[in-house]
Amino acid sequence: MARENLSAFEAVNRYFGEAAEILDLDDDMRAILTTTYREISVQVPVRLDDGGLVVAQGYRVQHNGARGPYKGGIRYHPSANLDEVRGLASLMTWKTALVDIPFGGAKGGIAIDPSTLSQHELERMTRRFMNGIAHVVGIYRDIPAPDMNTNAQTMAWMMDAFSAREGYSPAIVTGKPLAVGGAPGRESATGRGVIDVLEAHAARSGFSLDGLRVAIQGFGNVGSWAAVEAARRGCHVVAVSDQWGGVRRESGLDVQRVVDAVRGGGKVSEVEGAHDDITNEELLAGECDVLIPAALDEQLHSENADAVQARVVVEAANYPTTPGGDKVLGDNGIVVVPDVLANAGGVIGSYFEWAQNIQQFQWKEARFNEELADKLHVAYAATASYAEAHGCTLRQAAFAIGIDRVATASRLRGYV
Ligand code: GLU
Repeated sequence: MARENLSAFEAVNRYFGEAAEILDLDDDMRAILTTTYREISVQVPVRLDDGGLVVAQGYRVQHNGARGPYKGGIRYHPSANLDEVRGLASLMTWKTALVDIPFGGAKGGIAIDPSTLSQHELERMTRRFMNGIAHVVGIYRDIPAPDMNTNAQTMAWMMDAFSAREGYSPAIVTGKPLAVGGAPGRESATGRGVIDVLEAHAARSGFSLDGLRVAIQGFGNVGSWAAVEAARRGCHVVAVSDQWGGVRRESGLDVQRVVDAVRGGGKVSEVEGAHDDITNEELLAGECDVLIPAALDEQLHSENADAVQARVVVEAANYPTTPGGDKVLGDNGIVVVPDVLANAGGVIGSYFEWAQNIQQFQWKEARFNEELADKLHVAYAATASYAEAHGCTLRQAAFAIGIDRVATASRLRGYV
């Protein structure tokens, strides 16, 4: 993808650089934190059901582990590549530090379009990939999770492949099905957390969620749960979309109807009922109070950010806004609640699941949701206060808080 002549890792390091200036971080520490600790690129041969063979490439990048085991998702996407995975791994480092959970940052991916594979092919590929990275992961070393186009079933296969080598190890991955060590609340945690953060931002900024017009790009796990939570808390979800297009209704969509249709295998644009069909670009540029990109990277950039009419952008996706897009939004007075804060509910939920696996004790979902909101509210308040004190953006503040914590741990551990 790579817009504005910046790769994903360069773009994340651009954001890093803005915060490093505020912190007056020394050059040695910058050198450590703008590079990765370990990168694996592994061949993943997949035997197809018809006897053919596809050889995919898989990646796992461990960015920084000063504050705890490496942590981050695994995505299956045709455009996954080492540089993008580096950028996303770095984002995980700042995210886990900002919300103060005892993890570092990592990410993984396989460059493949999973919609072309059967369930059996997906299972074989997932097991082969886990075997390829098993020597660098571990319950106190590196803990994968779902990300784009991976889900609880993917994690169950990964857990089984690892457990076959090392003995029963539910804590090796998070985001598992409830029947094999998953935590009640984890599946909805990212989307719910997006709305927890929006709620904290609304309270501090003096507006209410009641009747707030929200548009959501992307209707996968994160976008759909964000829509459900937004509607439950009184917002009007005026537009949603998936990769094929979207729907819009000024008075608010019937979110449950869209959810039922999409979870049944349908597309957003096929949902029947009173609404207008729109494209993804129309969704981003449509009238609303809050825009929630919850799909791919680089959706808001220097060429389309000027069209955004929302007052607030809440980044549910990872790296949905390029540095060029971020500047245009800022110049237009639009507040951006950054990914490392807005979507941190997912990895916080993963932390709760991992801790429960290690303790072999399951929490009730109500406790999970309460502690999730609590952690996000604390992180939001710290970020907003930092931004006020330093006259900087929420993104710069969130990065600065995360970087400062990671730099302190890296220094104490003798990385530099
Ligand atoms: N993939 C999610 C993220 O980007 C969750 C990662 C995790 O739980 O480890 O934050």
